[in-house]
Amino acid sequence: MTGITAYKCNKCGLVMYPKHFRCLKCKGREFEEIEPAGDAKLLTYTVVDQLPWGMDERGRVLGIVEFANGVKATGLVKADDPKLGMKLKAEWGPVRVVGGEPAYGLTLIPKK
Ligand SMILES: [Zn+2]
Repeated sequence: MTGITAYKCNKCGLVMYPKHFRCLKCKGREFEEIEPAGDAKLLTYTVVDQLPWGMDERGRVLGIVEFANGVKATGLVKADDPKLGMKLKAEWGPVRVVGGEPAYGLTLIPKK
């Protein structure tokens, strides 16, 4: 359970997350809701030293992953040594603290 719903265009099949009002490719307006499925593959990542998300730690890794069914999402990579193409397991967990309360988001943990 990742807590993510992505949207697949009924016309051209483009998968979008988060949702856009119109399909980015064909401008279609009808979408099927899909959930990320399968393993996530790390497409790109960046190490964040500043705290643009209001996170409580430095040196966090933000990654963009693609799931087996084409859903792409941004999440927090919990790996000390991230590598492009590595397989990650997606979970929904606390990623930052907002106003003293934990906020939840996508966390990505290396598969063993
Ligand atoms: Zn489309």
